[in-house]
Amino acid sequence: MTTEPLVDLSRLCVHTITTKPWSIEEATDRYASAGVKGITVWRDTLEGRNVAQVGQALRNAGLEIVSLCRGGFFPAPDTAGRQKAIDDNLRAIDEAHDLGAPLIVLVCGAVPGQPLEESRKQISDGIQTVLDRTDEAGVNLAIEPLHPMYADTRSAVNTLRQANDMCEAIDSPRVGVAVDVYHLWWDPELEAEIARAGRMKRLFAFHVCDWKTPTLDMLNDRGLMGEGCIDIRQIRGWVEQTGFDGFNEVEIFSTRYWNMDQAEFLEQIKDAYLQYV
Ligand code: ZN
Repeated sequence: MTTEPLVDLSRLCVHTITTKPWSIEEATDRYASAGVKGITVWRDTLEGRNVAQVGQALRNAGLEIVSLCRGGFFPAPDTAGRQKAIDDNLRAIDEAHDLGAPLIVLVCGAVPGQPLEESRKQISDGIQTVLDRTDEAGVNLAIEPLHPMYADTRSAVNTLRQANDMCEAIDSPRVGVAVDVYHLWWDPELEAEIARAGRMKRLFAFHVCDWKTPTLDMLNDRGLMGEGCIDIRQIRGWVEQTGFDGFNEVEIFSTRYWNMDQAEFLEQIKDAYLQYV
């Protein structure tokens, strides 16, 4: 099956981290005037702001708020640490509610030296502890599996199968998965697990960028779509076959791109989006 190219920007969402040098106010203006339709807001951009007012400004500019990034980081070696994480996630849920974001993306967390199995248990427990608040706030949570190179410190959930298993066990319509091509492109089970997430009605978000060869930094050297080896369009096809019709979210952490003129970068993102997503 071939997936047709995208013909317009109507499902283009950009993560504020992608244009990190811009404040939320600048991103709002620039995205809207560039024809970007969706925005995923990273929490650091909200610091010192009235969150509800930011949400209103985004909607006034015609942007749809796709999600808030990020919650998670549940595992900790002691109870106090785990409670701190839960408190922070409760705050994130309140922020999402105030902002008007329907979804929080979870980077689940891990502790170096702690067995991954134990971290996954703490993640699942943490999510279940905050579930009541998600109901009150009307906010969903998306477990984002991270590439195994981050299994030491950032996430003990490294495959979509693990994320789907966790959703199945938690069994709440509020808890689903985020599929990020950067983290999952290598997985031979990806197509099958995307289909499974779709059958469970748990495919909540789709993130795109590219995997560069060589990758010079484990965190901040993601590629622009088309610059690397990921067949993004094929994965988008798998995602859309499940009935997913949400945004294609461009999430690029890149020191190289953050150092360039961000307006120019945004134009490159638009071109790459139409050509390679
Ligand atoms: Zn992502």
